[in-house]
Amino acid sequence: MTQAPRAVVVGGGIGGLTAAVALHRRGWRVTVLERARSLEPVGAGISLAPNALRALDVIGLGDEIRALAAWQGDGGLRAPGGRWLSRSDAAAVAGRFGGPLVLLHRATLIACLAAQLPEGVVRTTSAAALADPGDADRPARVSTSGGELEAELVVGADGIHSAVRRALFPRHPGPVYSGFTAWRVVVPLPGVDFASHETWGRGRIWGTHPMEDGRVYAYAAARVPAGGRAADDERAELVRLFGDWHDPVPAVLAATRPGDVLRHDVHHLAEPLPAFHAGRVALLGDAAHAMPPTLGQGGNQAVEDAIVLAHHVDPRTVDPSTAAPRTVDAITAGASTGNRAGGDRLGAGLAAYTAARRPRTTAITRKAVGIARVNMMRSRPGTVLRDAALTVLSKAGPALFLRSFDTIADWRPPRSPYASDGTGASDGTGVRVPRTVPCHPASPRPTPPQIRVPRRRSP
Ligand SMILES: Cc1cc2nc3c(=O)[nH]c(=O)nc-3n(C[C@H](O)[C@H](O)[C@H](O)COP(=O)(O)OP(=O)(O)OC[C@H]3O[C@@H](n4cnc5c(N)ncnc54)[C@H](O)[C@@H]3O)c2cc1C
Repeated sequence: MTQAPRAVVVGGGIGGLTAAVALHRRGWRVTVLERARSLEPVGAGISLAPNALRALDVIGLGDEIRALAAWQGDGGLRAPGGRWLSRSDAAAVAGRFGGPLVLLHRATLIACLAAQLPEGVVRTTSAAALADPGDADRPARVSTSGGELEAELVVGADGIHSAVRRALFPRHPGPVYSGFTAWRVVVPLPGVDFASHETWGRGRIWGTHPMEDGRVYAYAAARVPAGGRAADDERAELVRLFGDWHDPVPAVLAATRPGDVLRHDVHHLAEPLPAFHAGRVALLGDAAHAMPPTLGQGGNQAVEDAIVLAHHVDPRTVDPSTAAPRTVDAITAGASTGNRAGGDRLGAGLAAYTAARRPRTTAITRKAVGIARVNMMRSRPGTVLRDAALTVLSKAGPALFLRSFDTIADWRPPRSPYASDGTGASDGTGVRVPRTVPCHPASPRPTPPQIRVPRRRSP
C-alpha cells in the first residue's frame, strides 16, 4: 500500500496547528515541530471573528468554539474618563457578519486543535530549520536537533520572527516595530459589574472583555520606544499609565498580580512578501503577514490561511513516488524521483494559495496599520478631533462603525473538498475523513463575574 505524502509543519501555534488538522483531514501524513517544551501559548485571550469561525467549520470545530462565546450585548468605545464615544450592539455585529465574535483563552483554542491530531504528530522541544525548500523533483528537507526530515510539503508557521521566511526570502527586510508595546492579563474579577469596552486615550488604549470561562481578558497598549521594561514591575507600569482610567480598569489592576502581566513590543511586516510559497514550502500566519493587533485579525488570518492552504494542496496530486524514502546522498546529488508531474501539480496548488491569500492579508495588514495610527494617536488636537468624529459617526448609525469589518468578518472559506459529517466516513472521493474530537476547556472555570454587557472586539 502506498503511504500518504508527508507534510511537516514548523511551529505549533494557532496557524500551525490549524494547518496540521486541516492537512491531516485531507489525507496528508503530518508532523508538527514545535520548539517549545509544550504547546503553551501566551497566557492571554484571543478573539475569533465569524471569518475564522467559518474557517474552523471546515474542520468541524466552528460550533465547538462558538459555544465558548460569552453572553452578547452592548459594548463600545470609551474615552479614559468613561464617556462613550461609540456604542456597538453585539446582535447587530452577529446579524451583519452572520455569527458572534468569540473571545476565548488561547490555551483553550490550542488544546482544542491539538486534540484533533493523532498521538505522536506533535513533537515538542523540536526547534526546526529549513535545510532545503525542495522543488518538483525532490522533497523539501527540515533539520532538527534529532535529525533531518523529508517532506513533500513544508508549512512555515513559525511566527513573526520566522526562520523559514528568512530562508525562503533572505532579502525581505523582516518585521518592523509598530510603534507601541502591549500588555495582556487574564484575571478573575468576581463581583465587578462592567460593560465590555475598548478605551482610547492619547497614545494609549485599554480593553476589558469577559470570557466564557468566567475570567476577564484585559489588554493595554502605549506608544513607547521598543525594548522598554518597567524598572519595578509591569503591573506598576500599568497603574502609572492607566490607574486613573474609568471603571473597571482600576478593579482589573487591583485583581492583577505583577507576575500575571505579559508585555510584548508589537511588530508587523510593513513590506508584503513577494509570495507565500517557494519550492515545496508554504508560509502562513505571522510568518507570512504579521500585522498589528488593532483589528484583532492576526490569529484569524492564520486560521483562514491554514484552511485555504489545505484546500489547495491535494495529497492526491503528489505522486506517491515522492513519498518513498530516499537516501541523503540521493537528495544531495539532486537525483530526480521522476515525479515532475506530481510536484508540478503541488506547485500549482501552492501558487493558488498565494494568489488567494496574499492580496487579502496585505489589505488587512494595511488597514490594521492605519487603525493603529488613529487609536494610538498622541497629539491632543488630533485625539479631540478623532473622538468628536467617532461620536458623530456613532450617532449617525452604528452600522458605519461596523462597516470597517466588511469584507473581513464576512469572509467565507473555499468549498471544502473533504466536508465532514463528523462520522469519520469517507468523503466520497476515497479520502477517509477523521472524526472531530470534542474540545475540552484547558483551564478550570472560576465563578463567573457579574458582567453586564459583553465586548465588541479586541486586538
Ligand atoms: C497584544 C496582541 C493581541 C492580539 N490579539 C489577537 C486577537 O484577539 N485575535 C487575533 O486573531 N489575533 C490577535 N493577535 C495576533 C495573534 O496573536 C497572531 O497573529 C497569531 O498568534 C499568529 O499565529 P501563528 O501560528 O502564525 O504564530 P505564533 O502564534 O507566533 O506561533 C508560532 C509558533 O512557532 C514556534 N516556533 C518558532 N520558531 C520555531 C522553530 N524554529 N522551530 C519550531 N517551532 C518554532 C513558536 O514557539 C510558536 O509556538 C494579537 C497579537 C498581539 C501581540
